[in-house]
Amino acid sequence: MFEDPTDNDIFVIRKMLGRPPRGLLKIAGRCKCGNPIIAIVTHTLDDGTPFPTTFYLVLPALVKAVSTLEAEHYMEEMNDHILDYDLETAHKNYIESRIQICKNTDNPHLENISAGGMPTHIKCLHSLIGQTVACGKGANLAGDEVMSKLNELKMWSFEKCSCKIKYDEWGD
Ligand SMILES: [Zn+2]
Repeated sequence: MFEDPTDNDIFVIRKMLGRPPRGLLKIAGRCKCGNPIIAIVTHTLDDGTPFPTTFYLVLPALVKAVSTLEAEHYMEEMNDHILDYDLETAHKNYIESRIQICKNTDNPHLENISAGGMPTHIKCLHSLIGQTVACGKGANLAGDEVMSKLNELKMWSFEKCSCKIKYDEWGD
């Protein structure tokens, strides 16, 4: 499920972010058009900065859809019934995935740190859906709900590409 990034993936992510990807280890998930969805990033960047967001959402169409949900206060709605999401488990899953991904490297800084406000609350929907896309349904119930909501509102889906620029057009 985690793929090694190709030269084209690195090129595309560079265009998406407007800068070269830092600490890129793998790619997880692709839009129908081929655009990478998640950049899996190492726990500590080359300059020593700890980087807790292991599953970094890069797909512009999905970033935008999630930002729209945030702007519509969906995060506040979720925080109102935070216990439904068992964030403690999602938090542990996140850290466990990172340990597996980074197992050949030393991991001193990030032992109890996940992302997105976990395990106590939700402060970033992008982090949650990142875990859902990378690790599959069940890894993060809150991320699963964000994905369902996007599908329900037809804001984004694996079934349909809504990217403005497609994977094979980035070179233009
Ligand atoms: Zn696409």
